[in-house]
Amino acid sequence: MSAIINDIEIIKSETTKINDVDFNNLKFGHVFSDHMLECDYKDGKWQAPKVVPYQGITLDPSAKIFHYGQSVFEGMKAYKDAHEKVWLFRPLDNFKRINISSKRLAIPELPENYFMDGLKALLEVDKDWIPSNEGSSLYIRPFIFASGNGFHASPADEYKFIICTAPSGSYFSGDVKVLIEEKYSRSANGGVGFAKAGGNYAGQFYPTQLAIEKGYQQVIWTDDNTHEYIEEAGAMNIFVRINDTLITGPTSDRILDGITRKSIIELAESENIPVEVRKLTVAEVVEAAKNGSLKEMFGAGTAAVISPISGFGYKGEDYEIEKIDNTYASFLKKRITDIQTNKAEDPFGWRY
Ligand code: PMP
Repeated sequence: MSAIINDIEIIKSETTKINDVDFNNLKFGHVFSDHMLECDYKDGKWQAPKVVPYQGITLDPSAKIFHYGQSVFEGMKAYKDAHEKVWLFRPLDNFKRINISSKRLAIPELPENYFMDGLKALLEVDKDWIPSNEGSSLYIRPFIFASGNGFHASPADEYKFIICTAPSGSYFSGDVKVLIEEKYSRSANGGVGFAKAGGNYAGQFYPTQLAIEKGYQQVIWTDDNTHEYIEEAGAMNIFVRINDTLITGPTSDRILDGITRKSIIELAESENIPVEVRKLTVAEVVEAAKNGSLKEMFGAGTAAVISPISGFGYKGEDYEIEKIDNTYASFLKKRITDIQTNKAEDPFGWRY
C-alpha cells in the first residue's frame, strides 16, 4: 500500500509486530517499529526519502562503511503526552549536528526537509509505537553510512540515510560507579570527537570493558594530552557539582556539543543555580571528594537524560559521593522530562 505524507512516499508494511511488544517492560533500543525512513545519495545528490517497512539491507562486501567506517548517527526521542500528542525535543539541533558530523567525515550534507519531513512522516506512520507510559519514549536513530563500493581509501560516491525507531524504557537503572581514565582517550584535538562518528564509539568499547572488569560501569574520559582534565562520561557529557556550583567542560574538538548538556546549562541558569562552563581538573574533583565539597556528579545525554554517578575510581583509589537530598540531578531531570513530555510549560521553545 502506498500513500504520501508531507511529500514523502509511504510504503506500508502488510503486517505489524506491535502486538508482540510488552510496552510495560521495554528495554532500551531492543525492539524496532514497523517502518523506517530510507534515503539514498547517488548521482551526486540525495534522492527523495521514503518510508518503507523495517527490513534488512543488502550491501556489497566492498562497501566503504565496512572498511573505512565512514558513518555518522544521531540519537533523539519522541514522547506522547496525556492527550496522545507527539513531541520531539529540539530536533533541529539533531539535524544540524548530523550535518556537522557528516562534514567532518566527508559525507554529503542532508537537506533539512529530507530530515525533518521524513522524520515527521515516519512518526505519523508509526505513531502507535510511541509509548506514553512514564519514563518510556520512542528512541529515534538517524544514521548515514557509505554504501558505495571499492577498496580505495577515499570517500564513497553513494550513501544511505536511514531513520529507525525503537520504543524504549529508561537507559540506565540506578547510580553508576565510574573510572577516571588515565591511559586511553576517546578523542583528540583535530580529531572527530565532536562528531557523532560510528568509530568513536567502537574505540570506547575496549577501555570500557577494562573498567567493567575492575567493577566500574563507565569510563570518565580525560583529555588525550595530559589526562588531567575531566571531559565526558561514557557517551554522555559530564557535570560536577562542587558545593552549590555546577561545572561542565567547554565543548571543543574533543567534547560533543550535547543537546542535553546545553539544555541543562540554560535551565540551571534560569533557576539561579550557579553554572560554570570551564575546564575542570581531575585534581580538583579528587580534592573536592576528599574535603566533602563534591556533592554530585552526573552524565547528561538524550538516552538517560541525567545519569547520577555514585562514586569514582582514580589511580587505584575509590571515592564515594555521599548521598544528599534534593539533588540538582533529580531536580533538573524532572524539569527537562516535564518539558519533553508536555507536563510543564516550555519557556525555552524546546518542545516541537
Ligand atoms: N557525548 C557523547 C560522546 C555522546 O555520544 C552523546 C550522545 N549523543 C552526548 C555527549 C550527549 O549528547 P545529547 O545530549 O545530544 O544526546
